[in-house]
Amino acid sequence: MLEAKDLMVFYENMLALNNISIKCDDNQIVGVFGANSAGKSTLMYSLSGIMLDIQKKEDMAGGERITLTGDVLLQNKSIMDVKPSLRAKAGIVLCPERRRLFKESSVIENLRIGGYLATKDEAKQTINYVMELFPALVKLKNRLGGFLSGGEQQMVAIGRALMAQPKVLLLDEPLLGLSPLMQSTLIKSIKVIQEEKNISIIVSEQYARPVFPIVDYAYILENGAAVMEGTRDELMDNPDVKAAYFGVS
Ligand code: ATP
Repeated sequence: MLEAKDLMVFYENMLALNNISIKCDDNQIVGVFGANSAGKSTLMYSLSGIMLDIQKKEDMAGGERITLTGDVLLQNKSIMDVKPSLRAKAGIVLCPERRRLFKESSVIENLRIGGYLATKDEAKQTINYVMELFPALVKLKNRLGGFLSGGEQQMVAIGRALMAQPKVLLLDEPLLGLSPLMQSTLIKSIKVIQEEKNISIIVSEQYARPVFPIVDYAYILENGAAVMEGTRDELMDNPDVKAAYFGVS
């Protein structure tokens, strides 16, 4: 349903995405794995359309020239020129790297902000859903975003994205800086979300290991290019992938 075709992104003359083609079908969880600066966030910004805003801002400020070529398609229709707010309305919702909560707003306010596209009923139901999904948030409802642990912040960030009623949820490094226990809690919740909401999820991470059990298909990025791709089983059976991404050979 969501697809990037021959996507290239340049920051001035620096090639950040090199001819990337990736695809996420209905009800799939797709992984995008790569080291620091491989291009994961650039890809997420390009899929969600936020790259167009960044490009415009840089243009207006006389900053760096950002060039995008190739295509992004939703249900086989190009959305390359569609602005991010309309892509969100169409169901493409980004949960950005480093959570980006409103630190001066409470948990419940952060969730409500995410629900600006939802009806009153949807917002109410989704808040209940988030509290069931992440029971730890129930007693933290009124705590300010800035006073939450990293794991709690990530739960709120995912909850806030769910408030926008996604059809394709983009999770950019949701496990960053979290303990192994919190990582495994979140990964299980991500799978539950996909099953219960029947949505598609694209999740990027540096390390494949914690996410691998829940992905249907995955891409490996190196220096902005997709150097390998396959189903979970195909990649698991590939000795190069094992050595590079699981530390075993
Ligand atoms: P990380 O895991 O560190 O978040 P990433 O895989 O998300 O990395 P990107 O943030 O997409 O990688 O960056 C890809 C490349 O583009 C990097 O070399 C980065 O320095 C560069 N880059 C990202 N944003 C900009 C920008 N606004 N201007 C210039 N270069 C940029």
